[in-house]
Amino acid sequence: MNRRQWLTLLAAGTAAALSGCDATHPAAISGAAPNHLAKRMVAAPSSPVLPTTRVAVPLLPAPPGGPKTRLPRRAITTLPGKGNTLALTVDDGADADVVGAYIKFARDTGARFTFFVTAAYSSWTVHRDALRPLVESGQIQLGNHTWNHPALTKLSAARVADQLERTKTFLRKTFGVDGTPFYRPPYGFRNATVDRVAAEHGYTVPTLWYGSLADSSIVTEQYLIQMAHKYFNPQAIVIGHANHPAVTHCYNQLVDVIKQRNLSMVTLNDVTLPPV
Ligand SMILES: [Zn+2]
Repeated sequence: MNRRQWLTLLAAGTAAALSGCDATHPAAISGAAPNHLAKRMVAAPSSPVLPTTRVAVPLLPAPPGGPKTRLPRRAITTLPGKGNTLALTVDDGADADVVGAYIKFARDTGARFTFFVTAAYSSWTVHRDALRPLVESGQIQLGNHTWNHPALTKLSAARVADQLERTKTFLRKTFGVDGTPFYRPPYGFRNATVDRVAAEHGYTVPTLWYGSLADSSIVTEQYLIQMAHKYFNPQAIVIGHANHPAVTHCYNQLVDVIKQRNLSMVTLNDVTLPPV
C-alpha cells in the first residue's frame, strides 16, 4: 500500500467514525426482557451474520471501587479527586421512549449514570417498574431536576421550594430515594437564594457540568458523537437529555469512546460522599 492509498483509507475511517450512529439498535425496546442480549448472542451461530453487522454492544467495565471523595458544599462541574471516571448525567425525560432506551442501555451494557428527573414528565412513572431495580442496585442514580423545569432565578423562594419539594416527594414515593444532595437547576440558572432554599431541602450540591452532548434540542447524531469525543474525559460530569431519539442510535459509539479512553462510567454516589 502506498502513502496515498493509506491516507485515503485513513480519511475513510475517520469519516466513518464521524458519519453517524448505529441504526441497528432500535430506539426503544423498553418492554424487552433483561436477557434480550444474551438470547440474541446464543442464537447467532445458526443465523447468517453479515460481516458489517454489529451483534452486541460491548460491555462496559465495572466501576473502579476504592475510596470515595468527600464533596464540597458548593456547585460542582467535575468529579472531585483523581481518577479515570466519567459521570454521564441525563436530564429531563420529555420522551418516554428515550428514557426506556437509556434503561435498556444500562441493562445491556452495565452502563452506570445519573438521571436528573423533571418529575412532571410522565416518563418516570411509565418506566417506574423497569427503573426501580436499577436504582435500588445503585447502577442508576436519581437527582432532582425540579418539577417542571422553570428558571429558578425568576421564582420566589417559596416557589423554588415547591419545585424541589414536589420532585423530592415524587422520587421518594416512586423510587424510595430523594436524590439528595444532588440537584440540577434548569439551564444552570441559580443564585444565592436558589442555593439557600435548595440546601434547606437537603440539596447542598448544585450539580452543573463540564460538557454537554448538546441534545436538549434536536441535533444530528454526528454532532452528538463529536460532543462525546470532546467531553468524555477523566472526571468529567457530562450532561445529556432524554428528550430526543438521536442519542438512542449512538450508544455503541458512546461506548466505543469510553472504552478507547479507558474510562469507567460512574454514578455520582459511586465516587463521592455527601458534604458534611
Ligand atoms: Zn433540563
